[in-house]
Amino acid sequence: MSGLLAGKRLLITGVITDQSIAFSAAKIAQEEGAEVILTGFGRVSLVERFAKRLPKEAPVIELDVTNQEHLDALPDKVREHVDGLDGVLHAIAFGPQSVLGGGFLSAEWADVSTALHVSTYSYKSLAMATLPLMSPGGSIVGLTFDATQAWPVYDWMGVAKAGLESANRYLANYLGEKGIRVNLVSAGPLRTMAAKSIPGFEKFETAWTERAPLGWELTDQVPTAKAICALLSDWFPATTGEIIHVDGGFHAIGA
Ligand code: NAP
Repeated sequence: MSGLLAGKRLLITGVITDQSIAFSAAKIAQEEGAEVILTGFGRVSLVERFAKRLPKEAPVIELDVTNQEHLDALPDKVREHVDGLDGVLHAIAFGPQSVLGGGFLSAEWADVSTALHVSTYSYKSLAMATLPLMSPGGSIVGLTFDATQAWPVYDWMGVAKAGLESANRYLANYLGEKGIRVNLVSAGPLRTMAAKSIPGFEKFETAWTERAPLGWELTDQVPTAKAICALLSDWFPATTGEIIHVDGGFHAIGA
């Protein structure tokens, strides 16, 4: 098999529909020669349905990234399909409605802590759970939404993403000695299930489509997926702790 990811064994989280960023990443990874294993949270049969729509049907392992038993069992479940991993995609985020959509000042800790557990701490949890399967040259990739500034309505998810961006640098620092790279893709707004659950998400959509120098397609997951695959490949061998923007250039332009 030839291609950018020929022979790579990848664990891809975060598929819930064919609009998921992770679905496009899995599809392109397979087209580029990778062997892909998916994880599903809760609705595993739904994930399995979408796994059948990939160029090659991928196995699905159940994983709630906040469940330590699931995390502990992950290496053995992965070994049922492959003997190790070359790359892992973390494409997971969740915040209860109270932490988004203008509720920043009223959101309570119980809900905020859920958002931080699922969206921030889980990056470290997933990295540690898969570490026994990884060897030097391995790559971990996550997804952020530019956390360098406060956005309307994103609220505590913005704080969670700021934490994720920091965790990305710490993970890169701790895993560098094992030869493992850790990087984020900072994507512009895309109409996925997670995005549609954010009240007021259309504010981002208008800003991006009007201001991104390269323009921005709200339903095109491919540019983001291609960047993920590039980071999972051998073509960024000396890059870690980095955040690659795939946002049509929006982040570089002032109002
Ligand atoms: P998505 O298709 O809704 O994917 C989010 C995934 O996270 C879903 O598969 C969801 O599963 C999963 N998840 C939630 N809680 C989980 C848990 N406890 N354990 C394991 N998985 C869990 O949306 P997406 O936009 O592709 O999101 C993927 C990543 O991209 C997220 O980190 C998101 O913040 C990031 N991102 C998205 C955008 C955007 O505009 N869409 C922009 C920048 C960054 P269920 O659906 O079953 O709950």
